[in-house]
Amino acid sequence: MTTDSTPHAPIASIEQRLDAIQTVLQGQGMQPAEFIETFDELAHEHWVPANGAGLVARAWTDPAFKQLLLSNGMAAIRDAGLTMPPHHRHFVVLENTDDIHNVICCTLCSCTAFTIIGLPPDWYKDLAYRSRVVREARTVLRDMGLDLPAQTQIRVWDTTADTRYMVMPQRPAGTNGLSVDQLAALVSKDALIGVARI
Ligand code: FE
Repeated sequence: MTTDSTPHAPIASIEQRLDAIQTVLQGQGMQPAEFIETFDELAHEHWVPANGAGLVARAWTDPAFKQLLLSNGMAAIRDAGLTMPPHHRHFVVLENTDDIHNVICCTLCSCTAFTIIGLPPDWYKDLAYRSRVVREARTVLRDMGLDLPAQTQIRVWDTTADTRYMVMPQRPAGTNGLSVDQLAALVSKDALIGVARI
C-alpha cells in the first residue's frame, strides 16, 4: 500500500468537460449541438419500437407480407417505408413458435436494428446480460420475468455489425377482431428483443 500526499488537481465537472469537447469540435468545423439535437429527434421520434411492432402486426394479418418479412427482411422494411443505416446489410426476423423462442443480444457491445426496434435498453448493454444470455438463456429470461416451459427450445442470436435481428412474437389468442394498429400496440420493445412474450 502506498500513500500519496500530492494534492490532486480538481476534476472539472461533467458540464465543463462537455463544453471543452464541444469547443474543440466546433474548432474543427463540426456542429455538435445541432448533431445532438438531430440525433435526439431521430432517436425519440423515428427510431421507435412501433416500427417493428407495425411489421409484426402486418405479418400477423397478411400471410404474403409475413413470407416476405421472414425470407427477405430488407425487402420487407423497404416495402413498409422504413430504412436502416447502410452498414446494417441484413435484417433477419426470427419467428417464435410453440416450440421455439428466440432472443437477441450483442455479446460485443450494444448492436440492434435500432431504426426498427428502437435504441437498446440499458440492460441490453450491460455485461451481465451480454455474457449470461448466451450461456444460461433460460435462467436469464426467468430472472427477467419470462419463465418458458421446459420443452421450449431457446435460440440466442448474437448481433454483428452487418446483421441485425428482430424477434417476431406469436400472435396472442383472442385477438381476431383487432385491427393492425391495435395489434401493433400489443408488441413491446422487450417482445421484439425476445425477453418478453405477449
Ligand atoms: Fe454491438
